[in-house]
Amino acid sequence: MITPEKSLLLTNLKNYLTFLKDYGYSEVPLESGNILGSEANKINLSNPLPTKLKEPTIEIQKPTNPKPYLNIKEVLEELGDCNRCKLHENRKTIVFGSGNPNADIVFVGEGPGADEDEQGLPFVGRAGKKLTEIIEKGMKLNRERDTYICNIVKCRPPKNRDPDTEEIAACKPFLIKQLLVIRPKVIIALGKPAASTLLGRTVPIMKERGNWYVYEGIPLMITLHPAYLLRAYTLENRRNIMDDMNKVLEKLKE
Ligand code: URA
Repeated sequence: MITPEKSLLLTNLKNYLTFLKDYGYSEVPLESGNILGSEANKINLSNPLPTKLKEPTIEIQKPTNPKPYLNIKEVLEELGDCNRCKLHENRKTIVFGSGNPNADIVFVGEGPGADEDEQGLPFVGRAGKKLTEIIEKGMKLNRERDTYICNIVKCRPPKNRDPDTEEIAACKPFLIKQLLVIRPKVIIALGKPAASTLLGRTVPIMKERGNWYVYEGIPLMITLHPAYLLRAYTLENRRNIMDDMNKVLEKLKE
């Protein structure tokens, strides 16, 4: 029988294994003689929930090859001249991120558009100007000094379509590494693709924006994408975004 304790343990285990998989690990080595039996001493992260799990306690060893990232430059170096997914075929530039890697706030968008692809910097087109306005006029912060900005995919999807599952899966380990190296006080997911990627589920953005979540111990705020605001430039949408940003500013004071 699955007790509530076992159910919680399995959920936590699944989340942890999913995190490791997203982070880039393909397997987790376990001690020999572990509860899965000697012939199954590795958990395949493509199928993270082991069906043979019998006991509510499981000790997962730390991965044997963790790579401690000391700074954002090392993450960039690992990304290299990336060809891990098909987006590399049409990109002009990899758009890694910009701003202060020691900032308290990290904004996560969806993916570069034409202007970003051209300049190699995130959020420099129309949506970017709106984001800068939100940061500088709305939050009274300095974009370059007080924030770091990046995207869930680092190369422009053709015709600005949404990035697909494979593209997100290929790029997500680098986003996670950026977030873990920076360890900001707050992450802000801009729009549904960013929120869904970080939370690992489809997020109904209009319903869930303005709420706090936690990503790897870091408070995560979900808000509307500035490109959406430009398309639906209503008082309500502007107010909603500013309400969300005010919650962020309050959180930073805690
Ligand atoms: N939209 C995004 O999500 N990211 C950018 O960098 C630019 C526009």
